[in-house]
Amino acid sequence: MKTVNHWIDGKSVEGGSGTYGPVTDPATGAVTTRVAFASVEEVDAAVAAAKAAYATWGGSSLAARTSVLFRYRALLDAHRDEVAALITAEHGKVHSDALGEVARGLEIVELACGITTQLKGELSTQVASRVDVASIRQPLGVVAGITPFNFPAMVPMWMFPLAIACGNTFVLKPSEKDPSPAIRLAELAAEAGLPDGVLNVVNGDRTAVDRLLEHPDVAAVSFVGSTPIARHIHTTATAHGKRVQALGGAKNHMLVLPDADLDAAADAAVSAAYGSAGERCMAISAVVAVGGTGDELVAKIRERAEKIKIGPGDDPTSEMGPLITKAHRDKVASYVHDAAAQGAEVVLDGTGFTVAGYEDGHWIGLSLLDKVPTTADAYRDEIFGPVLCVLRVATYEEGVALINASPWGNGTAVFTRDGGAARRFQLEVEAGMVGVNVPIPVPVGYHSFGGWKHSLFGDHHIYGNDGVHFYTRGKVVTTRWPDPADGGVDLGFPHHR
Ligand code: NAD
Repeated sequence: MKTVNHWIDGKSVEGGSGTYGPVTDPATGAVTTRVAFASVEEVDAAVAAAKAAYATWGGSSLAARTSVLFRYRALLDAHRDEVAALITAEHGKVHSDALGEVARGLEIVELACGITTQLKGELSTQVASRVDVASIRQPLGVVAGITPFNFPAMVPMWMFPLAIACGNTFVLKPSEKDPSPAIRLAELAAEAGLPDGVLNVVNGDRTAVDRLLEHPDVAAVSFVGSTPIARHIHTTATAHGKRVQALGGAKNHMLVLPDADLDAAADAAVSAAYGSAGERCMAISAVVAVGGTGDELVAKIRERAEKIKIGPGDDPTSEMGPLITKAHRDKVASYVHDAAAQGAEVVLDGTGFTVAGYEDGHWIGLSLLDKVPTTADAYRDEIFGPVLCVLRVATYEEGVALINASPWGNGTAVFTRDGGAARRFQLEVEAGMVGVNVPIPVPVGYHSFGGWKHSLFGDHHIYGNDGVHFYTRGKVVTTRWPDPADGGVDLGFPHHR
């Protein structure tokens, strides 16, 4: 069986705690790999390596940093297929989707290659007689990143490329469910010439995470995962004096207005609800059909959903793969089983589905629930599986009120041909990312990604300008060079002269 270890100070370090977790191929249900769980001492070793590396990397030239990042970009580009195959083997998503994930991660590496422009400071000359003021941004030191299972390559790449471009060093704790892609990303960074200790990876569970949250040498924590853990990360790490951005879960709504192109809306709903088997924080999990569009829209969604081919992620004909674990599959199924008793109409029931020859895989088919009451668990919880709820409302206002009553506010979308209604929706809806006829509005790398309400704890969104701000702190330098004319003691508060 393959063992995944840690990556500390530029090399693979065998796990020493004696504790390992199982990594499963979701398509077969077989445990293929064991992943080492770091002890407190092993986390400390990774932080110590990062701290030692910061002494040099933090003061390295921008040219030195970007030359590594440009080489890294080229290496990742050449290894897209290999990284995608690692994702599919442990996460289960289909290869084309895994390639998309790598591409979106590469976007942030490309952003980091341009850090020279982002880190240009501001200078005001002659703010007073012979006085200049410069605003500069400097790195924080050692930064930790804790990432979820559903994007085992992209979400780490939302964090460390920009963090290290800004001059920080990094300790990553990837999901223990699919740890191999993160280790490969670190190996490729070393191959690109990243100095030892600048990027470290410790594998593990809560023990490793909690040590990072409390470690006195960790200056900041980036987290992406579920809402309860995001809240724990934010509370604990801020209590230990750290800067924190903690992105949580979601329930993303798609509002379909009566004038929308219903074929385009149905295509979008099926792609966004069932892509990656619904295991995306930006998946559409609730369609809100306005003013009588419901029957036709549900029929169109059903017709499309019934044609989706489910199978192993490494089969190029598969469109949707299995879920991450058996336990998660069973939990997702329980929402579908309970839906009818809670007032929903079960249009498609994907439970009990299996793939011939892969009977032990974590399979579930596509489920479609119509007329779902807002009190049903399938609507109230983040299911994180291929289950789409359709809710029906009479008016635009009722639809927006329903969306805004949700405790989450990650992404949302409106489907309409009415520019005025779309503009109103942009301004009125309470969510961090809004799509107009775009079902999954994940911002490009040079805009920042982040939700509102229970989808993000902290002040900074991730990557883009917010990412650069998160990974740096501001300093303002006021300069006057001595001149005999400026002499003399003055106890008054400094003001412009
Ligand atoms: P998770 O919260 O279970 O785990 C995320 C990370 O936290 C993992 O590294 C895990 O090891 C660690 N962790 C888990 N329990 C912990 C605990 N008790 N104490 C300390 N650390 C702990 O999330 P997941 O199941 O891996 O990922 C799916 C979730 O992530 C979904 O809720 C999804 O919406 C969310 N997500 C959000 C975004 C976003 O950008 N907002 C992006 C991707 C995923």
